[in-house]
Amino acid sequence: MKQTFDASLKDLNSFSVEAYAGRLLELESADDLQSLITDFHFDAARDLILGGGSNILFAENVEGTVVLNRVMGRQITPASDGTFILEACAGENWHELVLWSLEQGLSGIENLSLIPGLAGAAPMQNIGAYGVELSDVLNSVQAFDLQSGTIHEFRREECGLAYRDSRFKSADAGRYLVIKIRLRLQRNFSPQLNYAGLGEELAAMGVDKPTAKQVSEAVIRIRRRKLPDPAVTGNAGSFFRNPLVSQATAKLLGAEFEGLPVYLQDEESAKLSAAWLIEHCGWKGRCMGRAAVSSQHALVLVNNGNATGAEILALAYAIRKSVRDRFGIELQAEPRIVEAKQS
Ligand SMILES: Cc1cc2nc3c(=O)[nH]c(=O)nc-3n(C[C@H](O)[C@H](O)[C@H](O)COP(=O)(O)OP(=O)(O)OC[C@H]3O[C@@H](n4cnc5c(N)ncnc54)[C@H](O)[C@@H]3O)c2cc1C
Repeated sequence: MKQTFDASLKDLNSFSVEAYAGRLLELESADDLQSLITDFHFDAARDLILGGGSNILFAENVEGTVVLNRVMGRQITPASDGTFILEACAGENWHELVLWSLEQGLSGIENLSLIPGLAGAAPMQNIGAYGVELSDVLNSVQAFDLQSGTIHEFRREECGLAYRDSRFKSADAGRYLVIKIRLRLQRNFSPQLNYAGLGEELAAMGVDKPTAKQVSEAVIRIRRRKLPDPAVTGNAGSFFRNPLVSQATAKLLGAEFEGLPVYLQDEESAKLSAAWLIEHCGWKGRCMGRAAVSSQHALVLVNNGNATGAEILALAYAIRKSVRDRFGIELQAEPRIVEAKQS
């Protein structure tokens, strides 16, 4: 296990903000897991697990230890029902895993192409894009309990997966280190093209009956156009979740604010577009110091160059206040925020 003290996290987060970790530990094999407890006394109140750093904002240093799980490995096993189980260790790059699954003739995660980060973080917020969520294909998660030192297998139903949420992000936050994920994929491809824009992109590519690889290509093309590339402009993708409200609230808001997009969920709830709310508070493309709201997408906060995490967080708070004052809706951040503890 590699160990570095007073390590910079700047190259380890997609916002590219400077922050330091008291110690950085790099897990290189599953044998290193036990020593997180026996030698390093992992404590979720002080230490944290980091994947690719594409869903985290460091507004403060980490005084304790940052653990990078870089254990690699992937394999495909046929299941008895004709499907295939793709097993990936947490350190695998998510997008490369998607491309590899397509090369193996499997489908199911093509709509999740080009999401940054590592496989181990995928269940954390049940990654989703273009009409597909990880929950559609997840079979199970293997995780190390950082309290007891034991390994647990969680079936999909036990992971508490919901819109940008899971037990690992909420009820059991900080307790488990994801070791492996298992996905159930198919050889028979049935395209998921319900998401607005995907069919049009395929048509623009001259594709009528797409293969899974072509759906992946279409998703990549749209994403490259719509989202700032973190390698060029620091960002963490969508900074806010789309708010879930009761249908009664959605109806009242819809009557008051013309054009407000409302997506009915189940019989009681509805999802609102956070991007629309932010844009209608005048934030799209606006700067606050060295932090800004992307002019490409109102949900994406960007580092315009040398912004601190605290500056980006201040912008997020200002947006949240505007949306609360105008629409009475409380936006929730999607990335994990590392900030000073309130005393
Ligand atoms: C340009 C851009 C576009 C994006 N688009 C999307 C999108 O379309 N859909 C979407 O859902 N997300 C999107 N994201 C967010 C992000 O890519 C995903 O949430 C991704 O899964 C985060 O992976 P990561 O490895 O970078 O996690 P990190 O940012 O390193 O960590 C995120 C959280 O997971 C925890 N964690 C990470 N690895 C482990 C592990 N092995 N065990 C336990 N806990 C762990 C961390 O402690 C942290 O709380 C986007 C981000 C960017 C920058």
